[in-house]
Amino acid sequence: MRSRYSAYTVNNGHYLLKTWHPATRPASLDLSQTEQCKWLGLAICSTREDADKASGIVEFIARYSAGNTVAVIHETSRFIKEEGRWYYVDGTISQPSQNSACPCHSGKKFKRCCGKQA
Ligand SMILES: [Zn+2]
Repeated sequence: MRSRYSAYTVNNGHYLLKTWHPATRPASLDLSQTEQCKWLGLAICSTREDADKASGIVEFIARYSAGNTVAVIHETSRFIKEEGRWYYVDGTISQPSQNSACPCHSGKKFKRCCGKQA
């Protein structure tokens, strides 16, 4: 998971596709948009491995700046383990509300934590 984030920060599309499950993997990846982004940080909110140890989820918050604005991706990603390796399947992106508790469990409000615009 962290390694996939690192791959985004250096626009390593090859690695991203390699760790993407074949069932949901796109034929190619257009990183021209993320190339404009400056990644500011990653917070893992929660991880869960299912009882069968063959699937799991990772909830994370990634912050980045694009131009003069700071944006946040809050995603819950599904992973599947095959032959000892984890593969990204898909993810659900949701936007926490400004006044709700930050998903990273800091105890602060989202707008004062990962959602901070600076
Ligand atoms: Zn936070």
